[in-house]
Amino acid sequence: MNPKKYLICVDSDGCAMDTMNSKHIKCFGPYMVKEWGLENWEGPILKRWNQVNLYAMTRGINRFQGLYRALAEIAEKYTPIDGLEELRDWVELTPELSNEALQREIRKTDSFILKKALRWSEEVNQGIQALDGKEKLPFPGVKEALAQARDFADLAVVSSANRQAVVEEWEAHGLMPYMKEVMAQDAGTKARCIQKLAQKGYDRNRILMVGDALGDYKAAQENGVYFYPILAQREAESWEEFRVEAMPRLKDGAYGGSYQKEKLKAFTENLK
Ligand SMILES: [Mg+2]
Repeated sequence: MNPKKYLICVDSDGCAMDTMNSKHIKCFGPYMVKEWGLENWEGPILKRWNQVNLYAMTRGINRFQGLYRALAEIAEKYTPIDGLEELRDWVELTPELSNEALQREIRKTDSFILKKALRWSEEVNQGIQALDGKEKLPFPGVKEALAQARDFADLAVVSSANRQAVVEEWEAHGLMPYMKEVMAQDAGTKARCIQKLAQKGYDRNRILMVGDALGDYKAAQENGVYFYPILAQREAESWEEFRVEAMPRLKDGAYGGSYQKEKLKAFTENLK
């Protein structure tokens, strides 16, 4: 049995780190407009991109799923998008939604729209890389919360992002010393990461997943562990409540039942 007995898993992007807004507002949406020459409808297209990827239950969906969804809407509302069906088929059928998988498909098909999607995705990566360090800060209250949490719980990052990027960001802001483990993209899905961590000897009712998107909640649910939502646009407030209320409740065995229900309700109402 683990000496600390409690485990708190923390998602990175948009949960502990304030990175989602700048990535979407400055890179994903604007680069799609540029790649597909959609400047005529830029305002409403960007507004819709941010709505789907930041402020609705679809928050945190894979970039290629987001791209197909956006282009399909654009084709319906504004202008035809050449090859849209090829993008749809790839997004629906590929076993892996990544640049590498897309490159393999392009080698097979030489598809025009898939090449555009890859160029967009690569340019987004470069754009994100070039974002100022000030755009990749932890949310207010994260450090204080983690510092207190680790007095009674083992802490782990559970993220679907690239491992090296996660470690660099957490190290840059002095958060790594609080964390016992980093489980990232290379460790499998978030559900799998929680499962692996749980096997190290924690009771399910002493494990909490902290996240900002539906995928985080589902990963917690699949493992039968508690979920604490960091609410989009209300992150500082959420971390404060985590420290003063959620954490003590977990420690006292008072997290389940009505408090967990209340938190899930706040989460779904916030992402409508
Ligand atoms: Mg997240």
